[in-house]
Amino acid sequence: MTGFNPKQTLVNAVNKTGTLLLSPPYGGSGYFRNHGPRNVRKIALTFDDGPSKPCTEELLDAMGELNVKGTFFCVGVNTRWHPDVVSKAFQAGHVIANHSYEHSRKAGIRLGNDVRHIDDSARIISEVIGCRPRLYRPPWGWLTPWEGRRLTQRGYTVVGWDVYTLDWKLPEPDGVQVAEAARNITRPGSILLFHDANAGVEYWYKRETTRAIKHIVPALRADGYEFVTVSELLGVPAYGPAEPAHTARTKLPA
Ligand SMILES: [Zn+2]
Repeated sequence: MTGFNPKQTLVNAVNKTGTLLLSPPYGGSGYFRNHGPRNVRKIALTFDDGPSKPCTEELLDAMGELNVKGTFFCVGVNTRWHPDVVSKAFQAGHVIANHSYEHSRKAGIRLGNDVRHIDDSARIISEVIGCRPRLYRPPWGWLTPWEGRRLTQRGYTVVGWDVYTLDWKLPEPDGVQVAEAARNITRPGSILLFHDANAGVEYWYKRETTRAIKHIVPALRADGYEFVTVSELLGVPAYGPAEPAHTARTKLPA
């Protein structure tokens, strides 16, 4: 039996406060785009922390059968492990976006102009798909004002969400319940957040996220919604030069 652990209690309090102040839909100093227009029944599915095998592969198969496109916020190290999965998603018409190099919360909140966690991931993704992602979602959703400024200077659109799901939890929550909870709070313009992997984990055997997608896509279509990518929803480019030459001063690892 474990008793009161002051260190863990402090860590939990810091995490809770950070999430409140820095995370969507309310935190992040106004840099996040958390949804599209509220007057059109268009919405976007987003997937964080991938790619992984077999979870992302199974999800891509299911999305192909449903003929629905999503936006995948990929982690650099995961992209290194599974470039074939990222390539497959890109070829199938999904948007590939940046979710930092190794999903470090510290890297993003650090002061100074250290942008390696952004640029290393962008470079690895661009080597796989041939173009540079311009959509970025910070790991843990934590965004400081200075990180928001760095990203804006580098031409990124910072993407948040307004529909958060607990699909990442273990043991796996029931996919249909996850889907129904998300459906209940979806509104025109919503950006829904799911997870197709766990950052820094190469093989991810979760099944319920794919099941949730199989349930929610026909259900929301029946509610009159159309699924689009984040770039389409927000009217911003998915790819392109995201690194103005005058700020390209990061040292890349050999
Ligand atoms: Zn993440």
